[in-house]
Amino acid sequence: MTAVRCLALNASFEPITMVPVRRALRLVIDGKAEIVETEGDRVVHSERFAMPRPHVIRLNKYVHVPRRFRRQVTNTFLFARDDYRCQFCGRTGVDLRHRECLTRDHLVPISRGGTNEWTNVVTACSTCNTRKGIRLPDECRMPPLRPPVEPHFVHLTWAVRRLTPVQSRYIRLFYGADTLETLQAL
Ligand SMILES: [Zn+2]
Repeated sequence: MTAVRCLALNASFEPITMVPVRRALRLVIDGKAEIVETEGDRVVHSERFAMPRPHVIRLNKYVHVPRRFRRQVTNTFLFARDDYRCQFCGRTGVDLRHRECLTRDHLVPISRGGTNEWTNVVTACSTCNTRKGIRLPDECRMPPLRPPVEPHFVHLTWAVRRLTPVQSRYIRLFYGADTLETLQAL
């Protein structure tokens, strides 16, 4: 079982990321963050001190999170946007056969001037990706199930992380209950 990570909030209470508990402790010790929620009565011991185990921390200074970072397309986020479903045959990861896997497909292939932007990439199983090859969707009659769009970064960032009920509360606080429900339904 993986250790529960700590939710880090910006000074504005905007949830930014999950950090390992050790890193959260370091930020608190260095005076860069404060503990907002502890993990029950659990205590972290070191040679010199004992501290409650941070579950949610808040940075003391506002950190600007660059938009470019937020928009980066990684396969983790791409697959989450597409509900882990091949956008050509509609199969999800669990439907795939042995040796098949989910991949990133470029609607306009890179070799034909396509880019890595959200609007040009879709989740495809390896078989569909191979079948499509370097053709355009029109040329091979393989339109994607949903036209690819750039998702709100919040949906991606938090869709792929497991949050505890306490941590979820801070997502709801900042983004509202609707966003949290959308995330939990993914
Ligand atoms: Zn497929």
